[in-house]
Amino acid sequence: MYIVQIASECAPVIKAGGLGDVVYGLSRELEIQQHCVEIILPKYDCMRYDQIWGLHDAYRDLWVPWYGGAIHCSVFCGWVHGRLCFFIEPHSEDNFFNRGCYYGCKDDNMRFAFFSKAALEFLLQSNKRPDVIHCHDWQTGLVPVLLFEIYKYHGMWNQRVCYTIHNFKHQGLAGVEVLWGTGLNRESYYFDYDRLRDNFNPFALNLMKGGIVYSNFVTTVSPHHAWEAHHSDMGYGLGHTLHLHQHKFKGILNGIDYEVWNPEIDRFIPYHYNKDSFTEKEKNKKALRERLWLRHADKPIVCYVGRLDDQKGVHLVHYAIYYSLLRGAQFVLLGSATEDGINSWFWHEKQYLNDNPDAHLELGFNEELSHLIYAGADIIVVPSNYEPCGLTQMIGMRYGTVPVVRGIGGLVSTVFDWDYDTIHPPEKRNGFVFFQTDHRALESALDRALDLWYEKREIFNKLAIQGMEYDYSWYNPACEYLKVYDFIRHK
Ligand code: ADP
Repeated sequence: MYIVQIASECAPVIKAGGLGDVVYGLSRELEIQQHCVEIILPKYDCMRYDQIWGLHDAYRDLWVPWYGGAIHCSVFCGWVHGRLCFFIEPHSEDNFFNRGCYYGCKDDNMRFAFFSKAALEFLLQSNKRPDVIHCHDWQTGLVPVLLFEIYKYHGMWNQRVCYTIHNFKHQGLAGVEVLWGTGLNRESYYFDYDRLRDNFNPFALNLMKGGIVYSNFVTTVSPHHAWEAHHSDMGYGLGHTLHLHQHKFKGILNGIDYEVWNPEIDRFIPYHYNKDSFTEKEKNKKALRERLWLRHADKPIVCYVGRLDDQKGVHLVHYAIYYSLLRGAQFVLLGSATEDGINSWFWHEKQYLNDNPDAHLELGFNEELSHLIYAGADIIVVPSNYEPCGLTQMIGMRYGTVPVVRGIGGLVSTVFDWDYDTIHPPEKRNGFVFFQTDHRALESALDRALDLWYEKREIFNKLAIQGMEYDYSWYNPACEYLKVYDFIRHK
């Protein structure tokens, strides 16, 4: 099958979060399974050019219709760790992608509306006719709208679209200008509740809603989150739209890249191990302590790796630090905050705990250190408020670090409670789950994990190994996506 991914990120060249990992990891696995994949991305000035091999101009004169005229673009082509990527560079005064950032501009709607149009224009002009176009998040919500309202009539009548939503919180609310810019025009036609009109703001168009309405199939990144988005307020106002389109909506769990996250070959950890040589993990624990100036003692290490923000349950992360210390454990945190208030709060905590031999807070983004933490810690906490999939619990398990998580979104689909799970037999359980958002709830689950570590170490290790036995690679998710692609092609 010939698949084209259209996205605003692809790791490691453009990565702001999990979306980049998914675009790369899924494409790689689809290629391993003998399919042809190409990826279309914006050519940002601030992307990691050192991660692209053989960048060259592939298409010099692409004219993309925009308002009444057209914008001249160049399309570059190169390989990102083996994946063939096309980067679109518009030459206009708007400077859409030369802003030193991926997102966060006032005209983000127009930037990505333009990108969606340019990607389709590129496919049309270069005679690429993929079987499936797979696009992602609000930034590319207009792709299926443009395809089925315009490009279909220019010769792209056989293409099908799969649309994946990674985060319902950001939906791309826009005004009429996106219609006039992209040539969709007909304001009253699109400002309809059955099409792009936002369900709650009657004066706005919702690009993600357009993606849902027009695509042949819609997915989100875990089965449980699909249920939440449909039936609870976690669809952020799109629940009704999902309900109307439920026949073409499903959750497919993300995978993690087993080339990158593999304790047997990881170049960032000093001692390699697998489930049969699990005792080697102890040596990484020692190395982690040495690296972070923690004291050597017979104590468990609890860790947190991730963004520090409300979505991630930052208050519970904070509470977990002090509760772990109270229980005699050590705590390691690696996180970055974008909000000033949270940032200064954690800098204050860092200073406060500076001389504590049992705690280390590392504020910032550090890929290499994250590997050592996953390998050296015993327990990883993930107390999120909202988590469509979540990768850190899966990575933790891959490294034999037992997850203690809040039971929402993808965490429900991946972590099964040691004491209370009713579906999986004891030998298939892999962590600890709590449900409420208060301190007591976290305490109860963390207590159970720590008690098991202190009192029944062999059983704790067995639980860690059970987590390692799970297959969270991209193999199964890619098979699921292929079933979706096949379904929409033959519908
Ligand atoms: P998000 O909501 O941010 O996408 P995920 O759990 O899906 O959260 O993915 C987070 C990814 O980013 C993981 O690979 C994790 O290891 C990595 N990560 C998050 N914060 C940091 C950090 N401060 N330093 C290094 N890696 C980080």
